Amino acid sequence: MRLLIAEDERKVAEVLARGLRAERFAVDVAHDGLDAWRMMSEVEYDLVILDLLLPGMSGTEILRRLRRKGLATAVLVLTARATTADKVENLEQGADDYLTKPFAFAELLARVRALLRRPPTGKTHLLRVADLEIDRLTQQVRRGGKRIELTSKEYGLLEYLASHPGRVLTRTMIMEHVWDESFEGLTNIVDVYVRHLRAKVDDACERKLIRTVRGAGYSLGEETEDPL
Ligand code: CA
Repeated sequence: MRLLIAEDERKVAEVLARGLRAERFAVDVAHDGLDAWRMMSEVEYDLVILDLLLPGMSGTEILRRLRRKGLATAVLVLTARATTADKVENLEQGADDYLTKPFAFAELLARVRALLRRPPTGKTHLLRVADLEIDRLTQQVRRGGKRIELTSKEYGLLEYLASHPGRVLTRTMIMEHVWDESFEGLTNIVDVYVRHLRAKVDDACERKLIRTVRGAGYSLGEETEDPL
């Protein structure tokens, strides 16, 4: 899952990003409201941790724009402002949860997880494609009831494919969703990880789920016929 942290206090942003990456999330950071909004317009984030007092554009304005666009991205508002009026205003603007600074990382993580397992974004925590089952909450993957052990990026890739069953996802889309901006590496990284994933998910099964759509990208689904 890919998260955005919009926070101008660099130390706070850095600590959060490090902690969340250690919990297997792909994390981007924006220190400015305008940057945050631009990134949210370009990337489909699963969750945004949004500071209210940001240079460039306030968190409240970002929230307003996001909801006006009809985007259901989960938003956890993070702020030093703690009056009831502030909380009410932001919850009414479409914030999904609220955390007042200073806070403990453990609480933030618990709230992030709670938000990500909530179904209002149209997502349930259990993804099923054919006999493949992914629990987004525990990050456990099973195929035909048998547990499959995946690395963090393999899991991220599989979860992304499985949350868009039958849809062709380009390498760029996959790169943007599963890896974050801190990634600097081989451009064929997606192909490499698809190969790892196939070895674990498909190789032992007669019915292959991960399909290569030549010239386009990858898709996960039940269709047995590979397009040319
Ligand atoms: Ca701030």
